[in-house]
Amino acid sequence: MSNELDVLVVGGGVTGLTVAQQVGAAAPRTSVAVLEAGERVGGIVGSYRREGYTVDTGPHGFVVYGPGGVSDLASELGLDDELMAAEPAAQRLFLLREDHLLEPMPVSVTDFLTSSLLSARGKLRAAAEVLVPRRLAEEPFFHFTARRFGTEVAEALAVPAVLGVTGGDSRNLSVDAKFPFIRQLERDHRSILLGALKVTWKQQRAAGKRFPTLPRFEEFGMRLFSFRGHGMQRLVDALEKSLTDRVRLGARVVALDRDEDRWRATLSTGESVRAAQVVLALPAHAAAALLGPHLPRLAATLTEIPHPDVRVVGIGYRRADLRRQPDGIGFLTIPTEHTHILGTIHTSTIFPDQAPPDTVLIRTLAGGVQDRAFAELSPADAVETIHQDLRRVFGISGRPVFSFDHLWRRAIPEYQVGHRARMDAGLAEVARLGGLHLAGNTYHGVGVNDCVRDARRVAADVLGS
Ligand SMILES: Cc1cc2nc3c(=O)[nH]c(=O)nc-3n(C[C@H](O)[C@H](O)[C@H](O)COP(=O)(O)OP(=O)(O)OC[C@H]3O[C@@H](n4cnc5c(N)ncnc54)[C@H](O)[C@@H]3O)c2cc1C
Repeated sequence: MSNELDVLVVGGGVTGLTVAQQVGAAAPRTSVAVLEAGERVGGIVGSYRREGYTVDTGPHGFVVYGPGGVSDLASELGLDDELMAAEPAAQRLFLLREDHLLEPMPVSVTDFLTSSLLSARGKLRAAAEVLVPRRLAEEPFFHFTARRFGTEVAEALAVPAVLGVTGGDSRNLSVDAKFPFIRQLERDHRSILLGALKVTWKQQRAAGKRFPTLPRFEEFGMRLFSFRGHGMQRLVDALEKSLTDRVRLGARVVALDRDEDRWRATLSTGESVRAAQVVLALPAHAAAALLGPHLPRLAATLTEIPHPDVRVVGIGYRRADLRRQPDGIGFLTIPTEHTHILGTIHTSTIFPDQAPPDTVLIRTLAGGVQDRAFAELSPADAVETIHQDLRRVFGISGRPVFSFDHLWRRAIPEYQVGHRARMDAGLAEVARLGGLHLAGNTYHGVGVNDCVRDARRVAADVLGS
């Protein structure tokens, strides 16, 4: 790899690899390289096979939405035949309250009316959402949900949805930054319920459906995918392969300065690489460390973004040892003292090829803002604690036959109120420096699909510069 490049990408997670792949594919004569601090590519994305199980230590799959996301990238990489859609069971999501699995979340109006998840008063208040006036001031997800649908819905759904997926706090998370499509419904239609109805009916009419039906949550599960036989590692392996010898592992960048009309990245070894354009595809704190000398205010803003520690604990059991089989995509926990589990993914239910026949694999998320001590447990204690919690939920009589544990320090950025405005201002400041770009899960969404779309945005900027 040359030390003089057109484009240098710092960070070999899914974002950085996609930026380099996109630039390389569109402009083959451009010299581009990726410097990755770790000994493998992929960053948070990673999986391996062991004893017949697929272990995804980070994302267990990706949800497809919008153009230019992971499924389009998979096609470009020749992975179409390996894409694996989740089983229809993934269309159901459960809630856990005090060790008891409640009925699945309602996916239709009839389900909602007959559901026991909410009291009659809670249901009436939720239905009154159609009358709530529009208010567009940015607000936390919890407050937004409580204002529009009532506190009961906010406690039963907003809190577990944020904790169980990211380990974060719905009272801090900005609805505008995290779920812009929901806010857009309020902006365009005043009511979320009426807006969702109108959008769905419009789509159904466009698809030639004569009698429109009500929107259903199920559609989410229908857009969840992974890769057959490999899990998510397949995507980053294919990206690495497409970059041939343009990825350098064990290459930590410790400083970034201007050197005449180029940027110079200095590695921990003392070696340096110069490039006309540099893309920092790094976690917020790592990008902040390199930006500090140039944009100290933005560096401070990035450092302040909370990233709760979370732990992924996966346990395999003999199917016969479970009184109740794991159904649906998983469950979210309404927080109580009863369990350390924030949420589960029922891996072997949604992707049956990820566990041996006659076994189940349940993947749990634990820790987060509510349970910081969980990150300090030893791996054996973490697995045993989760086993005891799962035992009560599923009536498990036997011991685990398989387990894995992965602790993610500073895992997922929490987009707090004001995040979008702060990031837009920061990205504009970076653009003014010339030849420098930021990409990744800090800016326009944390999902793998968001990261791939963000990588395309930056690759287009690089190519257009
Ligand atoms: C536990 C967990 C579960 C998740 N589950 C899902 C899911 O199911 N579906 C989904 O869509 N999303 C999920 N996500 C989110 C998603 O996986 C991430 O947001 C995404 O993978 C981030 O990719 P990235 O490339 O932007 O960052 P990263 O993966 O963090 O990559 C950044 C890279 O930069 C490298 N680096 C850091 N500092 C330096 C330096 N100084 N020099 C060189 N290299 C450096 C790092 O080693 C790393 O490889 C999950 C995240 C976590 C933590």
